[in-house]
Amino acid sequence: MKIAFIGGGNMATALIAGLAKVGGTQVHVVDPNPEALARLAAQYGATTAGGIDGAVADVDVIVLAVKPQQMREVAGTLAPHLTGGPLVLSIAAGIRGTDLSRWLGGYGAIVRAMPNTPALIKQGITGLVALAGVSEAQRKAADEVLRAVGQTVWLIDEALIDPVTAVSGSGPAYVFYFLEAMVAAAQEMGLSAEQGRELALATFSGATQLAAQSDESLDVLRQRVTSKGGTTHAAITSMEAAGVKEAIVAAMKAAAARGRELG
Ligand code: NAD
Repeated sequence: MKIAFIGGGNMATALIAGLAKVGGTQVHVVDPNPEALARLAAQYGATTAGGIDGAVADVDVIVLAVKPQQMREVAGTLAPHLTGGPLVLSIAAGIRGTDLSRWLGGYGAIVRAMPNTPALIKQGITGLVALAGVSEAQRKAADEVLRAVGQTVWLIDEALIDPVTAVSGSGPAYVFYFLEAMVAAAQEMGLSAEQGRELALATFSGATQLAAQSDESLDVLRQRVTSKGGTTHAAITSMEAAGVKEAIVAAMKAAAARGRELG
């Protein structure tokens, strides 16, 4: 598979690194930053260009990995190079497929993806949605690209990208926020910051692995560590009294609403 990346920043680098590990792809990167290009050429053998060039016309997949505010301009420059009918795979947050299609002169072979930052360590999860002009082979190609950095979840309706953004796109920040609170509490109770961090991180990953490997529902798993009158019960009772669950639900709805506004 031949892939061109427009934008060779953090997310593109994660995808290129993942694809290099899987093997079988030829990568071309377009980015105005010569340092980014030199790094990607040296590390992954990518061919490079400082601007959209003829090489882009000859690929199977074009990954749009620039910042959302640059997408309109980039799409305008890219439009004349789509004669070979490649899949256009956009990972830009908040850019509607229909807008992108219009900016590309009515182009239909577009997949919109919402990855998350654990992709940087191949532990990402990406929500994807295909516009009507995408073939089955192109859908598979998009899946292959994103599976190089983690798991994929296909959506039937682009409106569901906003809830996906609220759950997994922004989700890593909620986890960091919860961890920050756990580490702060650990320190207030006399543990060192390092010990607090070590305990909190191991607890989070241990608990998520336990849930992933269990057939039980999350509330059953929670109840198993919550004996009546015990320490966990005291903590959960305090969280319920403070409305923590309701606050999380409201926060995630706010994220989805902001996603709708931006797109
Ligand atoms: P980044 O700033 O690291 O990379 C953007 C790159 O685009 C830079 O290297 C920049 O030099 C290059 N660029 C700027 N103008 C260009 C142009 N005209 N042509 C080609 N390249 C150009 O950003 P990132 O974190 O990799 O994010 C890229 C996209 O991924 C964004 O649209 C973002 O919404 C999306 N995304 C990021 C995350 C994340 O967690 N980082 C998650 C989901 C989606």
